[in-house]
Amino acid sequence: MAKRKKAKTIGELKASGYQPVPLREEMRRNLIAMIKKKKNIFPGIVGFDDTVIPQIENAIISGQDMIFLGERGQAKSKIMRLLVNLLDAEIPVVKGCEINDNPFAPICKRCRDKLAEEGDAAEIDWLPRHERYGEKLATPDSTIADLIGDVDPIKVAEGRYLSDELTIHYGLIPRTNRGIFCINELPDLMERLQVGLFNLMEESDIQIRGYRVRLPLDIFLVASANPEDYTNRGRIITPLKDRYGAQVRTHYPATIEDEMSIVEMERRQFGGDELESYVPQYMEEIIAEVTHLARKSPDINQRSGVSVRVSIANYETMLSNAIRRAVRLGEKLAVPRISDLPHIRASTSGKIELESFEETREDKVIDDLIKKAVLNVFNRYYKVFKLEEVVVQFSGGFSVEVSATMRAKSYVRNVREMIGLAEVIRAVDDSERPETIASAVEFILEGLHVNKRLNKTTVEGKTVYRR
Ligand SMILES: [Zn+2]
Repeated sequence: MAKRKKAKTIGELKASGYQPVPLREEMRRNLIAMIKKKKNIFPGIVGFDDTVIPQIENAIISGQDMIFLGERGQAKSKIMRLLVNLLDAEIPVVKGCEINDNPFAPICKRCRDKLAEEGDAAEIDWLPRHERYGEKLATPDSTIADLIGDVDPIKVAEGRYLSDELTIHYGLIPRTNRGIFCINELPDLMERLQVGLFNLMEESDIQIRGYRVRLPLDIFLVASANPEDYTNRGRIITPLKDRYGAQVRTHYPATIEDEMSIVEMERRQFGGDELESYVPQYMEEIIAEVTHLARKSPDINQRSGVSVRVSIANYETMLSNAIRRAVRLGEKLAVPRISDLPHIRASTSGKIELESFEETREDKVIDDLIKKAVLNVFNRYYKVFKLEEVVVQFSGGFSVEVSATMRAKSYVRNVREMIGLAEVIRAVDDSERPETIASAVEFILEGLHVNKRLNKTTVEGKTVYRR
């Protein structure tokens, strides 16, 4: 569109030749244009290109309402918020309207009265796309008043009749008229509200305290639910379930690489640290591997799932422990090591649910996941039998001590003492910096331990590897 002065009144809008279109048509048209231009519609969404995104695109091209089914932490909320990318940059609305009325076809009584009175001189506003989005986490105590609306007692006291729609105080959904509204955890909504929602979607009317008001809203309603809750009989009323044209099934990152890219993107980053930090590839892989193993673990409740947030929080915790050490010891570079990993218990436990209820087992379950993750990652980098040269040097009482609070320099001494270790380290990291070498030494020693080539004893945070 050529740059011209934006219309300020209905008259100017008419003169500009602007033609409003229904919401679904707008989204469909913009989606098709984006596909044509090969634009990324869901920036920052990783690993859904061949699975989830085609389903969403089909639903939008079909004009179908969508429900996202998936366990926690599968980027459902993020995707739903990104749907605003499919809206026009801005649309005209009747100025001051609570429900973003289309200037050419207002539905609320206030605007209809206003337009009848002011005609083409009535003022309009331009609503940007990010203001055309609303969301609500459904809870058993969500009310009709919150979502749909209520009768305004002040207006009733002014002498209006209850059936007069001017007495309505609009809820969240009507206020998102001509936009996208998301209801998270739909099955948690009371049945009465589900009926209200259905009437709104299907019959374009709302019922408040027994009064039926026709309100043909133009809304794209999206919902999310845990698959288990959704299929559970009685959690969702059948007509509402039938109303959703597309059930989009989300999933966890299929590969460790996808899991790591999401962590890289989503982790909290702080500026202004004087300290440098570096996370070796294998340490990041261990974090992602812990989560992938947790998603297959019979000890963990798989119905609620293991969110990508577990990986993100664990990565942050692991790095923080390395930063804490570096600051304490006055080292210039913070590099996480195996001995930092027990700290991820704190960031894992709140985000998973165990199948059993014994209190002491949680740490054990997490420790076992870490051990298995180290084993898997280590064996992707090394063939254990090729490390015999290192292992034999432990015969005859030789041992190596490590800990999360030990200086990087003391590890460098080990590397000098042991034949072949420097070369083994270079296979995972070619940095010569002591902090990086310390991390690699621990990775190799622990890798040999989980492969049953070395014994390990840990007392008060100090770990000794020996044969
Ligand atoms: Zn209005």
